[in-house]
Amino acid sequence: MPQIDATEEFLRDMPELAIGQNFRFRCHPGVSCFNACCSDLTLMLTPFDVLRLRRALGLPSRECIAAYADQLAAPDTGLPMLRLRMVEDAPGKPCPFVRAAGCSVYPDRPGACRTYPLGRAARVGDGGEIAEQFFIVREDHCRGFDADSPWTSAAWLADQELRAYNAANDRYLRLTDRVRRTGARLSAGQANMAYLALYNLDDFTRFIRDVRLFDKIVAAPGRAQAVLASEEAALEFGFDWLELTLFGSNQAISRPGKPCSATPR
Ligand code: SF4
Ligand code: SF4
Repeated sequence: MPQIDATEEFLRDMPELAIGQNFRFRCHPGVSCFNACCSDLTLMLTPFDVLRLRRALGLPSRECIAAYADQLAAPDTGLPMLRLRMVEDAPGKPCPFVRAAGCSVYPDRPGACRTYPLGRAARVGDGGEIAEQFFIVREDHCRGFDADSPWTSAAWLADQELRAYNAANDRYLRLTDRVRRTGARLSAGQANMAYLALYNLDDFTRFIRDVRLFDKIVAAPGRAQAVLASEEAALEFGFDWLELTLFGSNQAISRPGKPCSATPR
């Protein structure tokens, strides 16, 4: 996905934070730069970001995306992507969620906002494992670095509650990597299905019900009920479903008469 590559390229110019190494940072409403980082951003939304934002805003996926995101397609894979839309006609092009008191969706803010002032570069190894590196994104206007609070990357990730975000984002990364390795762009129909299964989860669960999808596949007992009961489970199933439809194999679900794939790649 070029945007991830571009992010990696951007991060490579930043100092790396080695495992166990400390950085000092604290952001709070008392800093002179409060909210200065929430404007004029190119902020790509991952499927898990959209899940959390939609829930925080109490909007159907379709309305949430129409109101707050622009849809793009990755040039190399054709995978659909969403970019948070800044308020273009307001001075400084602020994020639509920034208020004088701070982020109005703070408990459900996107993973990139949580990770800052670190940047996470993740890539898929040949065995399907994820290798991650962290970089310090030090910007001149950010006074958070004046603080005494020391963090390691692991402590920062835990404090910012990034575990679920990174787990879902890594799953997404594996999917994009697998598409990229085919060397072909998705067809329009495949891209539409990817958009449905990754970003439009309420329509996706409706689709699952309407076509009785679980009657047509082999899945673990109770999976259908779990998928229809939880958006997180629906997104997890969306990744499985896309792998099955795009590549013909998946570890967790299969077509009747065909075994689940033994390997993820
Ligand atoms: S610029 Fe840095 S310290 Fe200031 S509000 Fe943003 S993250 Fe916090
Ligand atoms: S979502 Fe919240 S933290 Fe992220 S840029 Fe917008 S206002 Fe800032």
